Amino acid sequence: MVWDIDSTPTAKWLAGQARPNQFRALRNRLLLSYLALAAAISGTFATVVYSVVSRDRNAQLNEHIEQVAVSAVGTLEIIQHEYVELLTEDEDRSQVPLDPDGLPQPITLSDLMGQYEADSILDVESDLLPPAHQGVQWYDPQGHLMVQEGMIFPDAPLPLDLPSQGLRVQYPNLRTFAIPVRQAHAQGNAPLLGYVRVTESTQLLESELRRLRWGLGLGGMVVAGLTTLSGLWLTRESLKPVVASYTQLRQFTSDASHELRNPLTAIRASVAVMQTHPERVHPADWEKLGAIASASEQMSHLVDDLLLLARMDRQTPQSATWRTLALDELLEDLVDLYGDRAQQAHLILQHGPWPSLQVKGDAAQLQRLFTNLLTNALQYTPAGGQVTLTLQRTAQQALVQVEDTGIGIAAEQIPHIFDRFWRADSARSWHQGGSGLGLAIAQTIAQHHHGSITVQSTPNLGSCFSIRLPLA
Ligand code: ADP
Repeated sequence: MVWDIDSTPTAKWLAGQARPNQFRALRNRLLLSYLALAAAISGTFATVVYSVVSRDRNAQLNEHIEQVAVSAVGTLEIIQHEYVELLTEDEDRSQVPLDPDGLPQPITLSDLMGQYEADSILDVESDLLPPAHQGVQWYDPQGHLMVQEGMIFPDAPLPLDLPSQGLRVQYPNLRTFAIPVRQAHAQGNAPLLGYVRVTESTQLLESELRRLRWGLGLGGMVVAGLTTLSGLWLTRESLKPVVASYTQLRQFTSDASHELRNPLTAIRASVAVMQTHPERVHPADWEKLGAIASASEQMSHLVDDLLLLARMDRQTPQSATWRTLALDELLEDLVDLYGDRAQQAHLILQHGPWPSLQVKGDAAQLQRLFTNLLTNALQYTPAGGQVTLTLQRTAQQALVQVEDTGIGIAAEQIPHIFDRFWRADSARSWHQGGSGLGLAIAQTIAQHHHGSITVQSTPNLGSCFSIRLPLA
């Protein structure tokens, strides 16, 4: 199983293991989640408003068209009668224009009956026939257009197979409603009198909906701006108590370590003095004295580690005081230092030759980083195993890898290994002396140097820790 520890910075931060600059990452994540939620809510709101208004306005338009149609249906019989009379009376027939086929062309209602009659037949005035936005057409039973009124008519011919309740058709910028008209009060299949078709422009509706879309869009932008500002404020406020308790916790660790340091130094000094005068110690107590010396030694290492972490937590990296360091030489020193120990543990320590790569940093801290990883590799690898130290260049970074063929780390434990004081159970039974601070220190040092540590591990096969540092 391969894991990348850097992928869980928030979890580590929440566990109190990360440095304060990672608050920024958490704040950004909170802010992003908040903004995504707010965008989803306001987007849904705008969509609902738009669809409700659009449906409502469309329904109003349909209702209006149908009202006009109903009104026009009632006039078809009388209009047809007048039209037929006009065609059959010789002296008036010349008033009806003919098309190239000799068929009579449609005339307007007001031409047929006079404006007053037209208005009164339709029983409504300009509202029913607003010439700029509406048109009404009356057809005979064969679908021949006899009379029309208004300004807007579709180019499409009237479909004759209309359902009895009428048919609504949407054209670009136009909507029509056509209905067959049958004789009223007739029994059975009433004879067809003709058809009526009402047309209305949808341009007004479209421009109204366009304005609404703009309004919602602009409103959405204002809401997004306000949400971002309030989100910034909210996330900062909500993190304040967390930051405060984080700082308090760090301060407590630092103070406690400081307070422990002096008594520990006193104990170690006293034990050292006693050990230099064995004649003054009762032989039965000699072993106990050794145990006290070893425990106080261990405690003072622990306190030193805690103080180092506390100092690095407090400080921003002092890059002004950093030196340019040859990583290959630093690793070479490490191999010289730990070569014997590897040999004693019957381990093969593979190393070099390495390219000459330079990084900027604090020599003591970087040495500590690699020491922690190398001693872990030596500690957690059974005799006969191998530990390999490699150094290579990748883009603008130096990549150091400490690889072993040791006990490995279970996948579910990997997210915890950089937590302070965390140790795997297998590690406890394998090696007693550890404190669980080594990797936390290594990670803090790497981060201080603008680098990172990642780990890949397979239980019983081994682990590989990769440290990336920017090249000088
Ligand atoms: P410790 O003092 O216990 O070595 P570290 O912080 O260095 O503390 O390591 C934390 C834990 O990570 C160890 O207790 C062990 O469980 C695991 N670990 C670290 N390095 C290795 C490794 N090379 N192989 C297997 N487990 C490791």
